[in-house]
Amino acid sequence: MSARRPVALLLSIQAVALLLLTSAAGATWWTERVTVDAEVESIQRRTREIRDQAAIAALEPYAFGASRDPKHIDEAAKAVAQTAALVSSLKADMAGQDANFTAMGQTLDRMTEVIGVMTRVSTTADLSGALQELTDARVKLETQLRAVEMVAQGAAREHFNRYMQVTMLLWGGMLLVMLATGLAARRGVVSNELSSERERRQLTNGLTGALEAALEGKEAPAPLAPIENYRSVYDAVSRAITTLDELRKSNVKMARRTTFLKDIQDALSMAENEDQVLNTGYRAAGQAYPRFEFSMLLVDSTAGRLAAHRNESKRPCTATDPGRCPAIDKGRTLHHRAGDGEGSEHLARCSYITDPSVSVSCAPLHVIGTAAAVAQLSHYPHTETAFDDLEALALAVASRLGVVRSLAERTIEANTDALTGLSNRRILNDRLSGLDSANIPYTVVLCDLDHFKKLNDTFGHEAGDRCLQTFADVLRRACRDSDVPCRLGGEEFVLLLPGAGMRAGLSVALRIRTFLAEACAKLGIPFTASLGVASRPDHGNTGEAVLRAADAAMYDAKEGGRDQVVPARALPLLEGAV
Ligand code: GH3
Ligand code: MG
Ligand code: MG
Repeated sequence: MSARRPVALLLSIQAVALLLLTSAAGATWWTERVTVDAEVESIQRRTREIRDQAAIAALEPYAFGASRDPKHIDEAAKAVAQTAALVSSLKADMAGQDANFTAMGQTLDRMTEVIGVMTRVSTTADLSGALQELTDARVKLETQLRAVEMVAQGAAREHFNRYMQVTMLLWGGMLLVMLATGLAARRGVVSNELSSERERRQLTNGLTGALEAALEGKEAPAPLAPIENYRSVYDAVSRAITTLDELRKSNVKMARRTTFLKDIQDALSMAENEDQVLNTGYRAAGQAYPRFEFSMLLVDSTAGRLAAHRNESKRPCTATDPGRCPAIDKGRTLHHRAGDGEGSEHLARCSYITDPSVSVSCAPLHVIGTAAAVAQLSHYPHTETAFDDLEALALAVASRLGVVRSLAERTIEANTDALTGLSNRRILNDRLSGLDSANIPYTVVLCDLDHFKKLNDTFGHEAGDRCLQTFADVLRRACRDSDVPCRLGGEEFVLLLPGAGMRAGLSVALRIRTFLAEACAKLGIPFTASLGVASRPDHGNTGEAVLRAADAAMYDAKEGGRDQVVPARALPLLEGAV
């Protein structure tokens, strides 16, 4: 577009110049024409005068011949002199006609001579001869004059023609120059327009291709060259492509994260206990960070310790006190970068990370507001910045840990006696049926506190509760970890001893009595218990039968005066009841 403006200006200037030039040429032609016409007319006028005088010079002698009056000869002589003066004047204005003028001069001289002698001629014959000679001379002069006239007119016309030819040549030359420059400029514009069109097409194709590639998420087909006239378009499209690319990348990243989060949520929802939850966390970390190390540190709140869930020797930090872990303390993910060896390591690097070449990121896991674990990602390059998955993983694992823990707590609550913390009847029945199914022998010690109603009445219900708790502690002390002390309800307890026979059961029952006596002394409230002991298979093959036998034995103890241990009666007596 910019190339068109100077060309339009050039063409306008040329048009004006052509107009001026044509006007100048026309004016020159007209002036020259008028000048030449005037010149020719002047010659014609002067030759007419010469002719007139020559006619007088030739005709006056005829009047003299008729009248013999000498004044006619004088008139003729004057006319010849006048003719000679006019011829001389004409000659002065005309160059290059010497021969014609010389001839005319001779003719006039002859006429002067003839007229000079006429007054002296006496015979009519001689006068006629002189008159004839004058007429001939006049004709001759006329002929010579026409020759002069012709030459003069020819010269004027020739001068005019030559002048006009030069003018026309100049005009034509200028016209050609203008045409040539105009055409050249026009061709330049066209070629500029063509190349500009080519550039535009090239840019349009390039940008369209690049945009389509960007929309399809591919790389641009070739690096786009910025074209000067279209730089703003190029820049705008380049910016659009960059934005598209960034959007696409962030979309891919978001989609990947959404999938990762959904996967980990699905996997975690299948984890039913704490161990499965943590193992799912390890698997998810393995997927998200296959080239880095991952470990989980668990907070043991009762022991006040921080320990690795797996492979303690491989953990990248030595912190064992949860209260001293900066990530737990700050309650957010901390990145302890190793740095690049030029002093750019993280300033707030955890002092428990002993190896300075290892980068570690720690994400704390909070379960119901309490720190439960720390997810540790380590051995990544110090330039790594993608820790979103670690945080998402820590959050998801913590959330599932909370669910699993609260489920476990609820299960324990449902299976535990709230006052004593012992297992309840449901657990006892479960364990008994398990042992029955597996055909494992066991012994039960059924305990009933003596005169408990009275104790409540005497010391109060709260003191009664403390006694129940004390008896529960006695049961716990008297048995091993594999045994199951339970509270059946009220002041009735059962101690299940898997794998134990009657002898062992009686021994434990006696130990209970001893421990109870010690505990009562400490508590300051004296109370006793009656205990019945029965075994599988001695007193039945089902838990129900064995418990019934133990219950009967316990009643025997009550009958026997309380505060004693009674073994169940021998099976044959109970066999019908089984
Ligand atoms: P016996 O020696 O014959 O077993 O007499 P007893 O009083 O122990 O037996 P009884 O069945 O007549 O009374 C049991 C009492 O235990 C009644 C109740 O007040 C008391 N008891 C039951 N559960 C609790 C409890 O959770 N806390 C307290 N403090 N007392 C309870
Ligand atoms: Mg009772
Ligand atoms: Mg009782």
